[in-house]
Amino acid sequence: MSKANIVIIGGGVIGLVTALRMLDSNQEVILIDYQEPGSGTSYGNAGTIAEYAVLPVGSPSILKNLPSLLLNKNSPIAINRSEIFTLAPWLIRFLYQSSSKKAAKNAKAITDLLVDCRQRWKLLVKEINANSTLKSNGCLYFYNKKSSFEAGKKDMTKRKMLGLNVEMLSPLELQKLEPNLDMIEGGASFFPDGAYLNDPGKIMKLLLQSVIKKGCTVINKAADKIERSSEGVKVYLNDNSQITAKHVVISAGAYSKKFAKQAGDYVPLETERGYHLEYDMSKPLLNRPSCSVEKGFYMSPMTGRLRVAGTVEFGGLDQTISKHRIDHLKRGVSEFFPDLGDPNRSWLGFRPSIPDSRPVISESSKGNDIIYAFGHGHIGLTLAPITAEIIESIITKTKPPVEISQYSVKRF
Ligand SMILES: Cc1cc2nc3c(=O)[nH]c(=O)nc-3n(C[C@H](O)[C@H](O)[C@H](O)COP(=O)(O)OP(=O)(O)OC[C@H]3O[C@@H](n4cnc5c(N)ncnc54)[C@H](O)[C@@H]3O)c2cc1C
Repeated sequence: MSKANIVIIGGGVIGLVTALRMLDSNQEVILIDYQEPGSGTSYGNAGTIAEYAVLPVGSPSILKNLPSLLLNKNSPIAINRSEIFTLAPWLIRFLYQSSSKKAAKNAKAITDLLVDCRQRWKLLVKEINANSTLKSNGCLYFYNKKSSFEAGKKDMTKRKMLGLNVEMLSPLELQKLEPNLDMIEGGASFFPDGAYLNDPGKIMKLLLQSVIKKGCTVINKAADKIERSSEGVKVYLNDNSQITAKHVVISAGAYSKKFAKQAGDYVPLETERGYHLEYDMSKPLLNRPSCSVEKGFYMSPMTGRLRVAGTVEFGGLDQTISKHRIDHLKRGVSEFFPDLGDPNRSWLGFRPSIPDSRPVISESSKGNDIIYAFGHGHIGLTLAPITAEIIESIITKTKPPVEISQYSVKRF
């Protein structure tokens, strides 16, 4: 049996950045992951550092349109019908959180976390010698139809009220920024403060190298169970070995629920599955991540490839890739770039999602021996640095960078 001050279960972007932060403040850290850290959902996302993603997924317009979105085969949202009963409690909470009053409260909580996310990432890439992977030339939402552009304007008014910097572009103005998007009739919303990582997988590898260099022990096994004891929190691994820690951080993404339960807390965590396709090319057609609002996916320029990432599929943690979802992405991207041909690879990831779109960044209800850092949904890459700062403040009992009761496990 080994001992450590801090054990982190799950080495996605949240666990890796938290490990780095704790090592920087001279803590002894063990990171446990049964996969290569950073190779899961944190590897395959759209790469955006989305300061503009201030609105929760649940909103009055989703409330109005959800049934038709779920029934329409070509919609960006799909549900695996065999999972409906399992998902029902989560969906009911999600609908409850979609009223205008709740959505406004959730938007405020998300906005507080997003403040300075680009600046935080700037410091982080500097620390791991990856300056050139963070690109700060903005992000786009574009609208195929004029009616969507008009709806987009309303959406942007809400974001502006939360302090966001956004410009509405005509189709011609959009084409000046993105010459290859030349058939878009509606126009676009341009977020000049948006940024992106042009290779999330490479960043994950560099984060892993940095934590190892700073003395982190990485254990390549699955954690099965956590249990409080008089010596600390015991973490049982799948080879029957165990580690005792003063603090255990749960950052296992969409797989975190069972650990919270073992610690005595219920958390409504489900997954919104998302996909990507990649098309290899030396110049990836776009200058910045550009999201088709109607189709629900980003097209992100990445090193040596264009990554098309997004859509939402409610279907649990089953690893089976849905051909229908892949076809949806293929058809969608071919409307903008008809000559792309077949993708070079496809991928499925699991967003860890909470009905109110607020992550759980919180000590457990019984104290800071067990700490939660999961449920970041669509913006986990963006929020990793501030999450790590909050976790540090919970462990060291110092002032957090924002008011953290909004992310407490006690809200459920
Ligand atoms: C298609 C798509 C596009 C996205 N685009 C963006 C974007 O542009 N910007 C953005 O900010 N976010 C984006 N996201 C969301 C973002 O990727 C996630 O929020 C984030 O990666 C979650 O990170 P995590 O560390 O919590 O989880 P993960 O990356 O899933 O890491 C969890 C880790 O825990 C490990 N683990 C699980 N169970 C155990 C166990 N029992 N024992 C040990 N280890 C365990 C897993 O192996 C995994 O490595 C996107 C997501 C998807 C799917």
